[in-house]
Amino acid sequence: MNMPTEQAAMISADEQAQTQETQAPYDKSDVTLRDRLIEAGILLDTGEDGLYGRSEVFEDIVERLNQAITMLGADQHAEVLRFPPAMRRRDFEDSEYLKSFPNLAGTIHSFQGNDRGHHRLLEALDKIVHIGEEEERSDDWMDQQKPTRLVLTPAACYPIYPLVAKRGKLAEQGAIFDAFSYCFRHEPSIDPGRMQMFRMREYIRVGSPEQVMDFRQKWIERGSLLVGLLGLPFEIDLANDPFFGRGGKIVADSQREQQLKFELLVPVATPDRPTACLSFNYHQDHFGELWHIRQADDQVAHTACVGFGMERTTLALFRHHGLDVEAWPAQVRQLLWGDKASLIEQGLANLGNKA
Ligand code: AMP
Ligand code: ZN
Repeated sequence: MNMPTEQAAMISADEQAQTQETQAPYDKSDVTLRDRLIEAGILLDTGEDGLYGRSEVFEDIVERLNQAITMLGADQHAEVLRFPPAMRRRDFEDSEYLKSFPNLAGTIHSFQGNDRGHHRLLEALDKIVHIGEEEERSDDWMDQQKPTRLVLTPAACYPIYPLVAKRGKLAEQGAIFDAFSYCFRHEPSIDPGRMQMFRMREYIRVGSPEQVMDFRQKWIERGSLLVGLLGLPFEIDLANDPFFGRGGKIVADSQREQQLKFELLVPVATPDRPTACLSFNYHQDHFGELWHIRQADDQVAHTACVGFGMERTTLALFRHHGLDVEAWPAQVRQLLWGDKASLIEQGLANLGNKA
């Protein structure tokens, strides 16, 4: 996650081109699933790639998945924290997100001018409001937009770390948090699994290396349990994050070598390239160092998180079980609409890894 840039800069342009390719081209099946969902009114097309409205049926599934995740983590007694999908710009600056993914970040700008500026803004707007062609619409009116002190949240766990740090030293047993947020990533795509705004449910562990590694292992098992109960084919693999720039490949290789991030992949819109629906991250002491999070014995805290991609998991269900939720397999229906508790309790008992 944090490779020194000098070392990273040694990578050749060729290698970079290869890295970028891994995120690349869409195939026909991307379009098909997206079109089918839009045609069925399950997703609503806003006209902008990666930005969708959600129908009642889509939201119902997201909510029920969320409840299942809560049940799966009930024994964690996590502290539930909810933030709006924005965070303090200075916390974001300190997070070093911009070292890795400057191209994905979203900043929030706002008009901060006076009456004269407002007048200029309206004049510029007047020139474009009736123009249908995107390329002919000048964005002059934005000249006066200035950065606010907020940015869009890139991952649900980001607002948690500075908050934990402010509370002072951790207790002996460390801490566990439960977060849920819309997140923003500027990666417009026609692949419905690659949205610009999507929701992430997370559990976050802060503590000793042993505590956070145990946590991550447990959640790899529990995430697999959930996705298995949802009747979805999946595999767990090391992640291949699209780190930016010339050094991106080196950073990604290092992340893989150190096994810092695993993903649970399900074929969604691109059968030949399964999509990461859950991720399991070990940040080592990265956030602990950045924000001076201390364990009870004064050592720097380590952190880990498990992220559930709510839209991607929902899309995977539609992809594998069809668009008619009434016709989904009985066990999937039970997990979402019926007696979740018994399925989840049974599954956890089989794993034998409570608390
Ligand atoms: P990450 O921080 O990249 O590991 O993302 C955590 C989870 O969020 C992933 O496992 C995905 O399920 C989901 N996710 C990431 N990027 C997107 C996206 N562009 N659209 C929808 N879901 C996403
Ligand atoms: Zn996280």
